Amino acid sequence: MRATLVIKLFRKYSKCPDCGKDIVKYEVKDDTCNLWCECGWEIECNEKDY
Ligand SMILES: [Zn+2]
Repeated sequence: MRATLVIKLFRKYSKCPDCGKDIVKYEVKDDTCNLWCECGWEIECNEKDY
């Protein structure tokens, strides 16, 4: 995934939309970026969607 897009996603999801806490874990792959919160919220962003 493009670095510029990763930065954009980190800004957008710096806090969990469900509980407001900081994101605890993230994983960046070639085409996708996953983000997790300790409350169980998670998202997978695909480069194709942005
Ligand atoms: Zn949360």
